[in-house]
Amino acid sequence: MTLDVAAELDDLENHEGHDVAAILARATTVAAAADRLGDVVSAHRARLVQADMRRREGDVEHATRVFLTTHRWAEQHDCRPLLARSHFHLALTFHYLGDHAASLEHALGAVDLLDDGAPAGLRIIHLIRLANSLAENGSTDEARERYRQAESIAVGIGDLTRQLLVLNNLAYTELEAGNAGTALAAVERMYRAARAIGRDLLIVERDTVANIHISAGRYAEAEEILRDVYDAPPWYEAHDAAEAALTLAVAQRHRGALDRAQASLDRCRQLCAEHQLTAVGVRVLAEQAELFAAAGDHRSAFAEYKRYHAASEQLRSTQQEAKARARQAVFETAEARRDAERYREQARRDPLTGLWNRRYVDERLPDVLTAAAAAGTAVTVSLLDLDHFKRINDTLSHDTGDRVLMAVAELLADVVGDGFAARMGGEEFLLVLPGDATALLDAVRLRVAGHHWAPITGELPVTVSIGAVSTGAAGPANQADLLAEADRRLYAAKRAGRNRVVTSQG
Ligand code: GH3
Ligand code: MG
Ligand code: MG
Repeated sequence: MTLDVAAELDDLENHEGHDVAAILARATTVAAAADRLGDVVSAHRARLVQADMRRREGDVEHATRVFLTTHRWAEQHDCRPLLARSHFHLALTFHYLGDHAASLEHALGAVDLLDDGAPAGLRIIHLIRLANSLAENGSTDEARERYRQAESIAVGIGDLTRQLLVLNNLAYTELEAGNAGTALAAVERMYRAARAIGRDLLIVERDTVANIHISAGRYAEAEEILRDVYDAPPWYEAHDAAEAALTLAVAQRHRGALDRAQASLDRCRQLCAEHQLTAVGVRVLAEQAELFAAAGDHRSAFAEYKRYHAASEQLRSTQQEAKARARQAVFETAEARRDAERYREQARRDPLTGLWNRRYVDERLPDVLTAAAAAGTAVTVSLLDLDHFKRINDTLSHDTGDRVLMAVAELLADVVGDGFAARMGGEEFLLVLPGDATALLDAVRLRVAGHHWAPITGELPVTVSIGAVSTGAAGPANQADLLAEADRRLYAAKRAGRNRVVTSQG
């Protein structure tokens, strides 16, 4: 059975499941299949999914490296769909590193670069990330607008699962913004959507609801809703389960159920250790201190609080370093791209005149010809050579010759409009103009001859001979034939006495 790599990837990038190990296995299979097919973009997409799962399992460093590698590749190859994905993962990475500004920057990129044909589910996920980043940066209204957009897409495609995802994030944002009432309204809609698809709220969703209850002092309700969090399936995303266990411990402590709170906290600590959930692990220490204090054991509470303080400092400095490293890597990627662009441009320019060079012509002209043929329009290809240029060099100076070449280039650049001008070498230029431009070419010839040359060449005139050929009708269509014919006509112009344009076969 062959694997439909594209369909698998669409599905994986959209995955709803929380079965990290299963998704990781599928992504690994897809990556291998894409490698076999030599499908580099799909291989990168699959690796992003793989890395995302590794991150969820706790291997943040490895994941970040993969995100950055893919981001760099996508930047270098200007691959927008992949860039949208790498931006998304970097937005998440910076979010977890607590770098909200960088997270927002990437979240914006993730939404901007998604093309119109991207799956709706993916757009929803990217919009949610953007909304969360906006909220983290204090732009709650802007965030609400993005949640609204995401929800209306979900409703539009009848995807209640995604609607729930939006609502859960909205509810959490409202809670964080201190709007418990609005958060609760979102929760009501979460329950309705969940009922409509016939499933219970997920652990992450219940954690949000429990936190809303806790903020309103409804500890019993909070405990009730998280009661069976210990029964989370073994494949369940560890981070979500750990967060929920911690929330449960808080609710239980507030109720005075200190033994149950300790059990929840122990469960959370175990998950943190198993899955390297460092940030949650630090919060466990703070909650343990609270728990000791609630039991009246102030000595242990103080010791635990000191441990919390040290761990939180340690976490902050580790994150600071990781943040700086990741930012630097992103910066270098952007710089490498700018350098590559600059180099690319440089390699296609003639250094003396600033016009395009032959290399550019070889790359660009075939495209121009193809596009014109497809559009049913003509292109005029002309070769232009300075007359008796050697005389200028010989009687005046090579330097004067250079200045003449620069001045002629400037005149040409001035007339090209939608076409382009190139220096083919020596004192020979190419003009590629849209349509049948033979009339314009005679104007170019007159402009060169009529230019005020005295300040550069004194008495010596400067004129050009031009051989031109237009595509269309029965004319030659490929670059080599066109240039050869233009060259023949150029020499016909020279033979006929120079300072003239020849546009027909001799
Ligand atoms: P024609 O009218 O038949 O084209 O005569 P011409 O003198 O222009 O042609 P020819 O091919 O005999 O000489 C071209 C000269 O252009 C010779 C070469 O030294 C000069 N040349 C080529 N490249 C440059 C350059 O970059 N700067 C200067 N100053 N001269 C150059
Ligand atoms: Mg010449
Ligand atoms: Mg020449």
